[in-house]
Amino acid sequence: MYPGMEDYPTNLLEFEKRFATEQACRQYFQKLRWPDGFQCPNCGNKKAWLTKRDLYHCENCGVQTSLLAGTIFQDTKKPLQLWFHAIWHITNQKYGANALGLQRILGLGSYHTAWTWLHKLRRAMVRPGRDRLEGIIEVDETFIGGKRTGKRGRGASGKELVVIAAQKDGRKIGRIRLQRVPDASAKSLENAVQKNIEPGSIVQTDGWQGYNGIDKLGYSHEVIRDEAEVGDNLLPKAHLVASLLKRWLLGTYQGAVRPIHLEYYLDEYTFRFNRRTSVSRGKLFYRLVQQAAALDHIFSKDIYKRESDTNEIYD
Ligand SMILES: [Zn+2]
Repeated sequence: MYPGMEDYPTNLLEFEKRFATEQACRQYFQKLRWPDGFQCPNCGNKKAWLTKRDLYHCENCGVQTSLLAGTIFQDTKKPLQLWFHAIWHITNQKYGANALGLQRILGLGSYHTAWTWLHKLRRAMVRPGRDRLEGIIEVDETFIGGKRTGKRGRGASGKELVVIAAQKDGRKIGRIRLQRVPDASAKSLENAVQKNIEPGSIVQTDGWQGYNGIDKLGYSHEVIRDEAEVGDNLLPKAHLVASLLKRWLLGTYQGAVRPIHLEYYLDEYTFRFNRRTSVSRGKLFYRLVQQAAALDHIFSKDIYKRESDTNEIYD
């Protein structure tokens, strides 16, 4: 990516001016979705003409593609402009956005719509399997929620086990990844490591046996502390991330995070943490639109399905 490519409004006034029309939003989105120009998803051909219904008609194979197909905005009946407002709002909240606030700002008739939008956008905040951490990564786990103490090697009931991967950047923390895991077994931890860290990286852990196999997966494994208490007594960088995360959950969601929603919050926190030094809120907006464009669209029914597995109310 060359300088000048990251093009975004830097304040509300610029945002309002820039995205005053649906057409302006579509043009912006088009640049982020196809940075090298349109490419037919069917045959890869780069030439297309725009139909009256704003579909890209491939000159080679004749397949018509909509700008929003294959993004999280696919199937939306609302204008892209309204989505842009949602993204601007979310990325401008210092701590986190909630569905009620979003509903009010956007003037949405339905709370449920606001809630669904928020969850879709949270999912776009972290793209699993992409942008994995590399370099020297400290990995440890912590319990979130619940009151009871965890037992070694198992997820304690009422608590969720979360793997924290924190990249070392000198003495500071670089980027992080957070991954909810069912337990602290080797299988769960290895999965989490592979999802979030590039092979070839140095992975530093405590002496918990669940990490013993990761050197076989292409990582250099370093045990930097002999003791091992699952979910407790964290390595320093992971410990800092864990306490910041817990404080954020407490402050933003009053700690009332239900297990089924936890992954969304972890994604939102990761997004915010990894961009904490971004001076410009506009840059966060840009990133989130970009990631929304790159993410396969999320069927609302998937989100509802996850919901209906439980008796929870929407947050
Ligand atoms: Zn084609």
